[in-house]
Amino acid sequence: MAQQVHIIGAGLSGLAAAVRLAGRGLKVHVHEAAGQAGGRCRSYHDPALDMVIDNGNHLLLSGNHAALDFLRVVGAENMLSGPDHARFPFCDLASGARWTIAISDGRLPWWIFDPARRVPGTRARDYLALARLLWPPAEAAIGEVVDCRGPLYERLVRPLMLAALNTEPRDSSAALASAILRGTLLEGGAACRPLIAHAGLGAAFVDPALAFLRRHGADIRFGRRLRAIDYEAGRAVVLRFGDEDVGLGTDAAAIVAVPPVVAAALVPDLSVPTEFRAIVNAHFKVTPPAGVAPITGVVNGTTEWLFAFDDRLSVTVSGADRLLDVAREELAQSIWREVARVAGLPEGGALPPWQIVRERRATFAALPSENRKRPPASSRWANLFLAGDWTATGLPATIEGSIRSGFRAAELVATA
Ligand SMILES: Cc1cc2nc3c(=O)[nH]c(=O)nc-3n(C[C@H](O)[C@H](O)[C@H](O)COP(=O)(O)OP(=O)(O)OC[C@H]3O[C@@H](n4cnc5c(N)ncnc54)[C@H](O)[C@@H]3O)c2cc1C
Repeated sequence: MAQQVHIIGAGLSGLAAAVRLAGRGLKVHVHEAAGQAGGRCRSYHDPALDMVIDNGNHLLLSGNHAALDFLRVVGAENMLSGPDHARFPFCDLASGARWTIAISDGRLPWWIFDPARRVPGTRARDYLALARLLWPPAEAAIGEVVDCRGPLYERLVRPLMLAALNTEPRDSSAALASAILRGTLLEGGAACRPLIAHAGLGAAFVDPALAFLRRHGADIRFGRRLRAIDYEAGRAVVLRFGDEDVGLGTDAAAIVAVPPVVAAALVPDLSVPTEFRAIVNAHFKVTPPAGVAPITGVVNGTTEWLFAFDDRLSVTVSGADRLLDVAREELAQSIWREVARVAGLPEGGALPPWQIVRERRATFAALPSENRKRPPASSRWANLFLAGDWTATGLPATIEGSIRSGFRAAELVATA
């Protein structure tokens, strides 16, 4: 069994693998190219707002067991908060309608039979038709399995699936949609409570993990970009960092937990997703009025989800490639008008201090063709393993998928 493990990349997948292995007493070395950990899930001080914000608002659900397990292990389970029951307030910007989806706690979906708890304008049988998504043909797109029209689709299925898949749902993998439904709605409301890192992603996921690793003797280096790996006799034998080469003895393994394009350059003949989708976040420095829910779904606008933090209102737009070339001021103005309507603020009021954060390659595109390219955690080299939200986790690119991939790679190292 390996006694030492080198983990390349300190995003959540690399941190999850590191935490699992350090907790088991292995000597863990983490090598991160950036100056900080967290990868696509990080907090930083934004000068325009003069506050610490996240690179993107992240929503988790209470059924994200691997993510919650990770937080428990690093002692940060209290850093996510959310309502006691699965409640999702929505606002339709076209009609002005507002409603709240109130999912029953247990597995029996009583809520779909109650017009006050389901989407206005829908019938119980519309929801039952979604069962087709539970057993989809492996390569099908959602639009080939269920009808992507009507109020249930527009007001619930599309917003939830777009948030989880970050790709236009009708074109997205039905197999990934099935995995989402099985882990959430099929489990009942107890698995669907929305959870938010109220003090930021860094305070919830990253800082406690780094503290845990340091307590367990891990060696964590930043600004350390892996440039190449040498292979010999079926093993990875040298990690080349440019300024230093690290030999991998017979007791050493490596986990490559970097984005797919980087992994493909380090690991020969690796199949990886090559198409990506953007996410745009807009942050406004304003104290949310009393009564604004921590998270509100928005339809028929650019805004898709409005997050209310103590000191700011933040908007998430998924599958947002169409917004990448829109001028930042224009985007801030138009999104602010929507935010004001949803939050009940004066629409003509001055634009508060704002920031637009565009993550061009936020996730791989959840298309059937891209899902097929995802590799397993093992490689053809006996001591080299892969982790990342883009590996074959069976889930879309999410925190849950990323942490599961890290745990999986750690299991393989522990048994290698
Ligand atoms: C804006 C945005 C919003 C999101 N919203 C949600 C959400 O609401 N809910 C949810 O569950 N998920 C969400 N996600 C997805 C989630 O953030 C990712 O799935 C997760 O953070 C991916 O972690 P990872 O470890 O797989 O990859 P990454 O975070 O990409 O980590 C890879 C790490 O490798 C490092 N690296 C790269 N090259 C090298 C090298 N050569 N040597 C050493 N290190 C290297 C990188 O710097 C990085 O730290 C969102 C993502 C974004 C961008």
